[in-house]
Amino acid sequence: METKVLNTTAQHIDTAAEILKSGGLVAIPTETVYGLAANALNAQAVKNIFVAKGRAQDNPLIVHVTSIDEIKPLVTEIPEKVYMLAEKFWPGPLTMIMKKSDLVPGEVTCGMDTVAIRVPSHKVARDIISRSGLPLAAPSANISGGVSPTTAQHCIDDLTGRVDAIVDGGSCDVGLESTVILMCNPTPRLLRPGFITKEQIESVIGKIDVDDAILNPLKDGVKPSSPGMKYKHYSPNAKVVILEGDDKAYCDYVNQHADEGVFALCFDEDAKQLKVPCICYGEHKDEKTQAAKLFSALRSMDEKGAKLVFARMPKADGVGLAVVNRLLRAAAFQVINL
Ligand code: AMP
Ligand code: MG
Repeated sequence: METKVLNTTAQHIDTAAEILKSGGLVAIPTETVYGLAANALNAQAVKNIFVAKGRAQDNPLIVHVTSIDEIKPLVTEIPEKVYMLAEKFWPGPLTMIMKKSDLVPGEVTCGMDTVAIRVPSHKVARDIISRSGLPLAAPSANISGGVSPTTAQHCIDDLTGRVDAIVDGGSCDVGLESTVILMCNPTPRLLRPGFITKEQIESVIGKIDVDDAILNPLKDGVKPSSPGMKYKHYSPNAKVVILEGDDKAYCDYVNQHADEGVFALCFDEDAKQLKVPCICYGEHKDEKTQAAKLFSALRSMDEKGAKLVFARMPKADGVGLAVVNRLLRAAAFQVINL
């Protein structure tokens, strides 16, 4: 299949919307990562997303709309706390899971009775949803298991020949996927950390639960609250090992293991002390920049031919929790305490 690369002019946005209306697949920019969009109400189009990405058949998709009013037909009920969080964080990088209505095809939710919904803030994403007049199912626009895309080039690298179009809207501001929270339990449960932090959510709706799988590998035989938790994620070709320790311990360890093909995935301040090639992804205390740069950094390690990467463990506070969550998965939970 030929893959068109579109820009963000009104004419190209119309082209993207037309492709979506006719059941096609379009990679679109959002403030989190690029999403691979299809008409969420068209079961065949949704099935094609799974094929294009090589996504596991039991890993449900997030549906994107432009306002809370558009959610009403998609769910059986909107809990009060959803309104409270929507008021504060929508449009934005927060996904809320509610009980689904019959309108949402089982293909979107992989047979689950709940549906994940988000109202993105990115202008281009919103324009494409509005112009198509459709709710759009959109997982990250990468090959499943790999690193999520934060630029159109990442989508081109992964999906050329597999999708109808890719809309180039520049690089994504947040750079990590949305925060995901299950809203149909009496106490909402954080399933995936993101740019909207646990602390921010709790300041609006009070105490929430945090799923164990956020910072720990799933135990054998345990059914995950979110099917995506059980899959390998963000894995570059290089082997990634996270080192937990201060800057001196980190740099000493890396320098003692400075063999051919060894790279450092480190904070900006560490680079001058290291004897191996460094890929920096922000300053030590700047979790937002780390979030924005992590996925590009993981992709560039492979481009540069890294074999073994020692990553510095970020602090798991605020947005840092999301950075640690993604890095742990990229490293298949391999952590050395220094
Ligand atoms: P992605 O769109 O690739 O960022 O992944 C969406 C994430 O949301 C995956 O981890 C899914 O497993 C999760 N998710 C989507 N819908 C549901 C749902 N109804 N219940 C629980 N988790 C969900
Ligand atoms: Mg994904």
